[in-house]
Amino acid sequence: MSSSKTIQVKEKKLEEISGIGPATAEKLKEAGYSDLMSIAIESPRNLAEICEIGESTAAKIIASAKEAVDIGGFETGDEILERRRLIGRLTTGSKALDELIGGGLETQAITEVYGEFGSGKTQLCHQAAVTATMPEDRGGLNGEIVMIDTENTFRPERIAQMSSAMGLDPVETLKKIHVARAYNSAHQMLLVEKAAELAKEKPVRLLLVDSLTAHFRAEYVGRGTLAERQQALNTHMHALLRFGDLHNAVILCTNQVAAKPDAFFGDPTRPIGGHIVGHTATYRIYLRKSKAGKRIARLVDSPSLPEAECVVTVNEDGIRD
Ligand code: ADP
Ligand code: MG
Repeated sequence: MSSSKTIQVKEKKLEEISGIGPATAEKLKEAGYSDLMSIAIESPRNLAEICEIGESTAAKIIASAKEAVDIGGFETGDEILERRRLIGRLTTGSKALDELIGGGLETQAITEVYGEFGSGKTQLCHQAAVTATMPEDRGGLNGEIVMIDTENTFRPERIAQMSSAMGLDPVETLKKIHVARAYNSAHQMLLVEKAAELAKEKPVRLLLVDSLTAHFRAEYVGRGTLAERQQALNTHMHALLRFGDLHNAVILCTNQVAAKPDAFFGDPTRPIGGHIVGHTATYRIYLRKSKAGKRIARLVDSPSLPEAECVVTVNEDGIRD
């Protein structure tokens, strides 16, 4: 089985659509419309307002986008079976955690890890970045990694440390990890498109978004903006999921819990983003601190696996049992 095989789909750029000039393309991207799908499913009124264009122009743009985009359409059952045959699993470094989620992080799916500050979310991302470079017989994906870093917490030194623990050459590992700092939510969404470009040249098998929700939460404040925030997050999540499908990649995202009551959830132990994030993520893992470097990982809301918990350790080597 060659799980590094990717499914190629040609996608047009915004500027290639009739009615979208460079200025409009820029406005669209700033507003978070980073791909044609997000335009194709928008209403003329919203698009007109956001891009400061006439409603009839907006309607034309949407019509062109609908034509150009691969709206998904229908796949026959055997095609879906073939795509699902390629599904791979990536080890987290901990056997117990791998087992909890059915054998490791799944490709063609989104795994969301949430928990409070210091619970080990970023450590898990670093660990997955290292194991993803390993060969498949060691639980890796023999691939390269894209890390969208929104909080400036990527540490090459930590990657080097974890690589050595795995018997890997730290420099070789670091060469396979492509890190981009996202400055705001629109930039974060745009970076998924950049990742897709990179994936044409490199076998990107892991896309990390650490943190998925921090920018969205900081930018969309107050009740009136919640619907917009949820819509932008929804677009973002679907772009991520599509990346996962097209490149047979693992999508691993981190999320915080609301430290003080969120406008959406009063409960301070609930992850940000509510049902939008929850319904698009296939696996949700709740991480919490325990004694002496230990963490408790809980699988929450999985469609096919029981709710269960396991204990993992964060130490110098990385994530372990
Ligand atoms: P989060 O992203 O959830 O806020 P982190 O992933 O940054 O949290 O976790 C930080 C914790 O990871 C630290 O408090 C420490 O317990 C542990 N940690 C980080 N680096 C090391 C290391 N080199 N050795 C052992 N533990 C570490
Ligand atoms: Mg972190």
